[in-house]
Amino acid sequence: ITVGLVFTQEHHQLYYIHPQVTLTGFYPALTFGRGIGYILTMGYALACELAGLALLVAHAFRVSIRHRVQAQTIALGAIFPVAGSIFYFLGLIPFHIDPIPFALTLTGLVYAYALFKLRLFELVPAARELAIDAVRDAFLVVDVLGQAQDFNRAIAALPGAEALKIGEPLPTDNPLVKKLWPLLHEGQDELEFFIERPGGEERYYRARAYPIYGKRSQYHGQAVLISDVTETVGLMRQLSYQANVDELTGLLNRRQLMKMAAREVEISRRSGRPLGVILIDLDHFKEVNDTFGHAAGDEVLKNVAECFRKGLRSVDLPGRYGGEEFAVFLPGADLEATLRVAERLRESLASWPVLPQDEGFRITASFGVCAASAREMTLDQLLAVADQALYRAKAEGRNRVVY
Ligand code: GH3
Ligand code: MG
Ligand code: MG
Repeated sequence: ITVGLVFTQEHHQLYYIHPQVTLTGFYPALTFGRGIGYILTMGYALACELAGLALLVAHAFRVSIRHRVQAQTIALGAIFPVAGSIFYFLGLIPFHIDPIPFALTLTGLVYAYALFKLRLFELVPAARELAIDAVRDAFLVVDVLGQAQDFNRAIAALPGAEALKIGEPLPTDNPLVKKLWPLLHEGQDELEFFIERPGGEERYYRARAYPIYGKRSQYHGQAVLISDVTETVGLMRQLSYQANVDELTGLLNRRQLMKMAAREVEISRRSGRPLGVILIDLDHFKEVNDTFGHAAGDEVLKNVAECFRKGLRSVDLPGRYGGEEFAVFLPGADLEATLRVAERLRESLASWPVLPQDEGFRITASFGVCAASAREMTLDQLLAVADQALYRAKAEGRNRVVY
């Protein structure tokens, strides 16, 4: 519209009014009166410049330090033409000089500084920004004053992150800040925590703090990186479970049972308290396999384990010692107590339904028992004595407890 108005100027005088070259000063100057089109165009341009400046200043308060300096510099550069426009518009510039080209020269100098010194348009920082927002790990920069200076998009997944604002102190009464407290305020450099999400899902996080130093090694603050390690924690638990527990029966496997027994032996050696052991071998188990099949045999083993588990205290250590052999360690139990437990297990097994497809089917087991303080016997000796007792229980007719 403006260009159209200027080109058709002589027909309407809507833009310049009586433009003419005046030769009275040091140089020829174009003088004119301001038409309505001229005033509207100038007003529109000035409004755009002011709005842009306001957006830049507002932006500068919302971004990280590095971008704040850039935004402030751009705003500074933009002030010259804005100021020039205002002065010119108000008629404050003498000798008919249009100050805008001069103002733009100053703007150019400031922008050159921004380009070459602040690396305004360099690709790397922008790419970095993108990368930081693209990663799954959350990222937070806190300055020496405890103010949030930067964070990425991933942090939004953490409850409490919505209250973080760039340039403002971290809120103290905030679930995320509380979890990160030892990193932020106690000099710890790594920690793990979990958060219960709405719906009861637990997620595990590992957070690491990295101190940030300036060129002259002055401390600027720290960057905190928070990784979601839920999958890893789940896998580790599963692995350690699989490594320690017998798959079929859910009891401790032999390796883990012996490891924990060794621990109990050590406690017994120091305290002098007794440790009871029961070795159990199912009677005529081969016949179960032969009659009902191997799968049914497995089912029986599972139910036998269930029977033993139900009949023991939580401090007792039942494990699958071999194919159809079980062992139970009883911390603190002397011979009398161990015999009592073994007898109870024997009775309970003898009446326990162990085969789903044959409700009336029962199985028995033979029990070899030994108990002593580890000051008197080693673990191997305990087991050897129990094993001999078990052998005798078999020989004397099975379904009995022998010590
Ligand atoms: P005894 O009363 O003398 O102990 O007779 P038994 O038949 O139980 O003899 P033994 O203790 O030697 O039995 C071992 C049998 O247990 C052999 C094997 O087929 C069976 N067995 C061992 N482990 C498993 C298992 O995991 N599943 C099944 N179904 N059977 C098993
Ligand atoms: Mg056996
Ligand atoms: Mg057997």
